[in-house]
Amino acid sequence: MNSLEILKLTQIILHYSLHLLFPGLIAWFFFRAQWEKAWLIMLATMLVDLDHLLATPIFEAGRCSIGFHPLHSYYAIAIYFIMAFFPKLRIVAIGLLFHMLTDFQDCLWTHLLR
Ligand SMILES: [Zn+2]
Repeated sequence: MNSLEILKLTQIILHYSLHLLFPGLIAWFFFRAQWEKAWLIMLATMLVDLDHLLATPIFEAGRCSIGFHPLHSYYAIAIYFIMAFFPKLRIVAIGLLFHMLTDFQDCLWTHLLR
């Protein structure tokens, strides 16, 4: 394995850990009383990736989802930010914002490793 392959593998592992495991940590630290439920809710925010189905092609290597797919647009991100001010929507909003952050750092990796 050369160093570029190791970096690309690191990108993939980091991307999925941030999507799946890190929300568990956020839940544990900030929503301790109901952390399992909070983690599940944040995992459910992965459903925003369904907007990829609207794109042609559905999957394209190297494409950045931020600013491309409707639920990953800057308008959508602004709405998620506003949602965070409403206690009932807060966990969902944090999950969505963190999802966007994860996708964004993935775009940076893709850009750097291209
Ligand atoms: Zn996404």
